[in-house]
Amino acid sequence: MSEENNKRSKLLREIPSTSKIVDDPRCEALIQNYGRTNVTTVVRESLDALREEVLNGQDKSEKLEDLIGSVELKLRSQQTTLKSVVNATGVILHTNLGRAPLSKETTQAMNNINEGYSNLEYNLTTGGRGSRFDHLGTLLRRLTGAEDALILNNNAGAVLTTLAAICAGGEVIISRGQLVEIGGGFRIPDVMSQSGCILREVGTTNRTRASDYLEAMGPDTKALMRVHPSNFSIEGFTEEASLTDIVKAAETNDLPVIDDIGSGSLIDSSQFGLTHEPLLSECIKDGADLVLASGDKLIGGPQSGIILGRADLIARIRKHPLTRALRPDKGTIAGLIETLKHYEREEATTAIPIWQMISADTESLSARASEYVNAWKGNAAVMPHKSTIGGGSLPGQTLQTICCGLQLPQNQLDETVRTLRNLDTPIISVINDGRLLLDPRTVLPSQDHIVISGLRQVSQLIHP
Ligand SMILES: *Cc1c(COP(=O)(O)O)cnc(C)c1O
Repeated sequence: MSEENNKRSKLLREIPSTSKIVDDPRCEALIQNYGRTNVTTVVRESLDALREEVLNGQDKSEKLEDLIGSVELKLRSQQTTLKSVVNATGVILHTNLGRAPLSKETTQAMNNINEGYSNLEYNLTTGGRGSRFDHLGTLLRRLTGAEDALILNNNAGAVLTTLAAICAGGEVIISRGQLVEIGGGFRIPDVMSQSGCILREVGTTNRTRASDYLEAMGPDTKALMRVHPSNFSIEGFTEEASLTDIVKAAETNDLPVIDDIGSGSLIDSSQFGLTHEPLLSECIKDGADLVLASGDKLIGGPQSGIILGRADLIARIRKHPLTRALRPDKGTIAGLIETLKHYEREEATTAIPIWQMISADTESLSARASEYVNAWKGNAAVMPHKSTIGGGSLPGQTLQTICCGLQLPQNQLDETVRTLRNLDTPIISVINDGRLLLDPRTVLPSQDHIVISGLRQVSQLIHP
């Protein structure tokens, strides 16, 4: 017994002090990275745990080196903050993975503006006050033919602010087929009530005609609204009044039409075999008084909400307090300008990542999928599959793609997905039909090496 006690106290005595470890030169880099307080706390916790184990009868002694190693792992695992991941899911506008990745020029412009001062709200001609909302106006007018434009933090904010500024206290007429929930709990009826207007539903889920709008208009009506059914499609016996029909109906009472097109696009998506997503310019041309769209869906820019349309209505929205609350930051404005310039230079499909992905050809996808396959030590093959657009754009629409498919026993599938997801740079994959799929379409070509080394590393764990 006393021999056992001696052994315990010897083991306990051998445990170094917290300060001895923290002051060890090998901890210097950790302290630089994570801060002294954080490192000290984790070291103390690790030593307490070790002491506890020894007291509980375990013959444990750890080398200083191993202790520091486990402290580093623990510190790293505590960094649960935002990090870059590789999107191998084949969903291009993956809302959970941050929607649109940005072009080089866009991120550079954002960095430049964020790093220093800018003329964000300063007029360089007069030396007086300027407006952050003025920088994008000219470009958006040129690209869409709209009279004026305004940018807010996101499209949900744009819808809320527009309704509050234009329709509060009155009724807004909308088709029952368009009372959508976009995701993340954004429901059009809820937004209406938040903005202080009354929803007036017309038609039915599958059929709404121009006459339904005409019959519903009354003295309290402030606007007619159309909402793009972004994440579902109704099939079968359906009918929706066209924008032109709604505009005609609104004109009989001199009312504005608000068109929330959700994603919207600046180039024709049908050239890639997809259905035609409304173009911002078309909606303006067809007579919508206000057109609302997201900056980070098919436009492929930074998160923002774009409001286009009649100058007098935009002026009213600009004055509303919600515009101040939901104003975009300087980096967003700089980034959106750069993204829009790609359209002006007609280089969207070569410069904007989401259009590069949508227009990627089968040969290059196949070549990249083969490289992934070759990196896997085990059963893998190149196989056709479908990529989707996602992010509330083009519901049900797919693009033929070529994936790397890993054939694994059922019990290893989930584990492999998880292991890939827990790499330093996580690789997000999907399981389909008993295979683990990696779609090169949504992997940035500059990240291919991460997928290749990740697959090598994980296949060695699985097939040692
Ligand atoms: C996506 C979407 C929104 C919300 O836009 P965010 O930019 O995500 O805030 C609003 N309306 C429609 C129709 C949408 O598709």
